[in-house]
Amino acid sequence: HEFEDQSQKISQFLQNVGHKIVVMSGKGGVGKSTVATNLAVFLSNQGYQVGLLDVDVHGPSIAGLLGLTGLKLNVIGDRLQPYQYTDNLKVMSIQGLLDQPDEPLIWRGPVKIGIIRQFLADVNWGPLDFLIIDSPPGTGDEPLTVAQTIPGCQAVIVTTPQEIALADVRKSIQFCQKVNLPVLGLIENMSGFVCPDCGSLHAIFKSGGGEKTASEWHIPFLGRLPIDPGVVTAGDAGQAISSLTNHTKEEMQHIVDTMLQ
Ligand code: ADP
Repeated sequence: HEFEDQSQKISQFLQNVGHKIVVMSGKGGVGKSTVATNLAVFLSNQGYQVGLLDVDVHGPSIAGLLGLTGLKLNVIGDRLQPYQYTDNLKVMSIQGLLDQPDEPLIWRGPVKIGIIRQFLADVNWGPLDFLIIDSPPGTGDEPLTVAQTIPGCQAVIVTTPQEIALADVRKSIQFCQKVNLPVLGLIENMSGFVCPDCGSLHAIFKSGGGEKTASEWHIPFLGRLPIDPGVVTAGDAGQAISSLTNHTKEEMQHIVDTMLQ
């Protein structure tokens, strides 16, 4: 009975959400959380109402990337209040509910599924144009729960250019096909480095692998982001996109524009 009640709350919330996008990756460390955060920030800067939901219960990093780690979430009545990052960007992460941010959570699948459903049912999101969901890497319980709980959800897959990352991307693509999660597109991150001294592009992890994989698997290629030390500075300082180079910002805007087409 409780489960059905919750399902009803989830579908009531989802009726007021325009686009639901889960950001996935085959591997950890390829920049999935960074891309999810940038997508949310860029879309909200364009005036859309955006919700950013971190369902990576074991390694939540969204709150850190946005400088929200110290904040505690409020509960009003039986509803959780998301972080109000800006007027039109709300953020929800398991991190806000933890007393000890560095303590590992030792939870099995059913508990994680329950938490994700609660993030959809009991959070005061309000109406959203976009719900961006950062899932943990791989094809485990979390992306599966998202796919099964959110009808109409689409996936953005983030990869780096080298073959070892692309091998796992092919698994992510097949996972999406198996669980009927349409792939909105692939993003190649850490795609070359623009030398600040001479301005030339160096393909540190090779480049072009993402685009080639997208074309082989008949999924859209949304664009590439360079290796940018500003991404690390911004992320470590919890300042989202402030220290990105103009080149990275342009590429990110291009990705958002391609996604909106
Ligand atoms: P994931 O979510 O895939 O595990 P993160 O988004 O947490 O990866 O990124 C891992 C690390 O790589 C972070 O320190 C982040 O700042 C850095 N990073 C991500 N994208 C870039 C980039 N384009 N240029 C430089 N550093 C990056």
